[in-house]
Amino acid sequence: MDSSSNEHPATVPSEAKEENEHIIQATKSLRRHMGLPEDPTENPSSATPSSVGPTFWLEVAPPSIRGAKCRLDVCTTNIMPGKYRIAVNPGCHSFRGHQSPDYYHVGCFEKIADFSQEDFVDRVQPVTRNTWQFRNLNASSVLDGNYLLDAGAERLTISWKQAVKKLINERDGVEIEDDTSEAVRDLLDNAGSSKFVPREIPDADAFELRLLSSTLAPNESDGSEDTEEWNLFYEFQMVVDGDQKSLDNRHNLDMTLYLWRDHVTLATSNNLSEELKERKEKELNPKAIRAIKRLMVTPMPDIQGAFRRGL
Ligand SMILES: [Zn+2]
Repeated sequence: MDSSSNEHPATVPSEAKEENEHIIQATKSLRRHMGLPEDPTENPSSATPSSVGPTFWLEVAPPSIRGAKCRLDVCTTNIMPGKYRIAVNPGCHSFRGHQSPDYYHVGCFEKIADFSQEDFVDRVQPVTRNTWQFRNLNASSVLDGNYLLDAGAERLTISWKQAVKKLINERDGVEIEDDTSEAVRDLLDNAGSSKFVPREIPDADAFELRLLSSTLAPNESDGSEDTEEWNLFYEFQMVVDGDQKSLDNRHNLDMTLYLWRDHVTLATSNNLSEELKERKEKELNPKAIRAIKRLMVTPMPDIQGAFRRGL
């Protein structure tokens, strides 16, 4: 049927138009908040370094009865506890002189943030044991296990950020030297594999090294004979190395996290429908289930270490 026929007034297109207009305005307002010109084709009057202005924190929504309102006007669902969300801090809106963060569903934020531009990608920070203090969170709430990302989401967010930045630099012909040492790179990429041999990393924090080679390791192996080791990035990372088309997909981060969370549910829920049980059977072998159960854990801050260091 011809949707432009006269029988039905064009309600859907006009609603879509209104939604688009909201998104355009929200995009402009986010750009202003970052110190960028509203029009992306205009050069900024003075370059705003990403250390100034808001940070886009990726975190887990803490317990609350109704959840948090998503700041994207056209979004009608609240962000419920336990979901990944973006906290723009400081937020655009001040309340009695106090600037509280603006919360968004990850997918809603991707509608207004242009993650094919470095200015935006640089501001994304995962809330973890290493970063929560910069997010101005209540320590006791964090130590209760709130806000912090699980190991899988942490590794996937950091790898998303690196992969997108690499594509942006390739597109713009910018050469950035990676100053990560080979031993650290090896640990980040290969921990968990049967072929991985830990190397000495001078001056590294022992607590962090232990986490990276256990809870946070991206690989899971059945041993030295295993030719199909499980890899977190291979399974869930939506950004494809060397493929510029990946930059056109606005929802890479949300899709990556969605896929990860979906598989956590599949691997761990005792309450799966028959359909999901079938999917689990098809998609997850015991090695994958083991890997997911390990990576769904949230690495907590090293409180004992902090005491030892007298902090
Ligand atoms: Zn939303």
